[in-house]
Amino acid sequence: RAAVRLTQVTKEYGRGPAKVTALDDVSIGVAAGSFTAVMGPSGSGKSTFLHCAAGLDRPTSGTVRLGGQDLGELNETQLTRFRRTRIGFVFQAFNLLPSLTVEQNITLPLRLADAGTDHDTVHGVTAAVGLTGLLGRRPAELSGGQQQRVAIARALITRPEVIFADEPTGALDPDTAEDILALLRRAVTDLHQTVVMVTHDPAAAQHTDQVVLLASGRVVSRVDAPSVPRIK
Ligand code: ADP
Ligand code: ADP
Repeated sequence: RAAVRLTQVTKEYGRGPAKVTALDDVSIGVAAGSFTAVMGPSGSGKSTFLHCAAGLDRPTSGTVRLGGQDLGELNETQLTRFRRTRIGFVFQAFNLLPSLTVEQNITLPLRLADAGTDHDTVHGVTAAVGLTGLLGRRPAELSGGQQQRVAIARALITRPEVIFADEPTGALDPDTAEDILALLRRAVTDLHQTVVMVTHDPAAAQHTDQVVLLASGRVVSRVDAPSVPRIK
């Protein structure tokens, strides 16, 4: 079963002579319960792919289905609601709210989704990402790796079917990056979630099940990451 399926997705920015085709007729499915890396040179369409797949941006043409739902059938309000309840997104720059505590940052998606913030859920997720004891701190009082853990906990808290991560290790030192990748791997193996991650880092791709390589807005290859035991 595909957790995410793009069918003939094209995304253009601008018009006339300034038109850029960021995604060019991309058709690809991402299997439920898999960890996928999206790689490719700068400007190849990785961010656009992630944003379209996650419903943060709409394709110019083609369809995106997530968990069986055609995102094109949702209006803006419905799409926002869908993102808040069904998708987790981890940004490269963490995107934490500086005035909120760690706990308030992590539970924000629950409040946005009008869901309860029961203690067990919050405790379970914060323990899983190794943030126990830091819940009362503010982002400025955390290291980069700890901030990324908060961003991942925030993406996990609603138990989304799919977690999209844009360069989640781009700002981290190699050891911390390994910890973060192990966390994302556990979301796949232990929680049966699907993770789609944009990365520049070949070492990060080693943790995934498959690598989708983009060039000039097209999928040019799709290979299993052979060094990783496949969990299906
Ligand atoms: P990557 O993430 O691989 O660097 P992007 O998806 O950011 O690639 O960009 C793909 C192409 O689309 C690039 O040529 C980029 O300049 C262009 N692009 C991306 N976002 C916009 C935008 N908002 N407006 C115009 N062009 C854009
Ligand atoms: P990354 O590839 O590291 O994700 P980019 O530098 O490609 O980041 O893009 C950062 C932001 O700028 C994205 O929101 C993207 O849509 C936007 N962007 C990228 N290229 C252009 C462009 N040529 N014109 C306008 N916005 C762009």
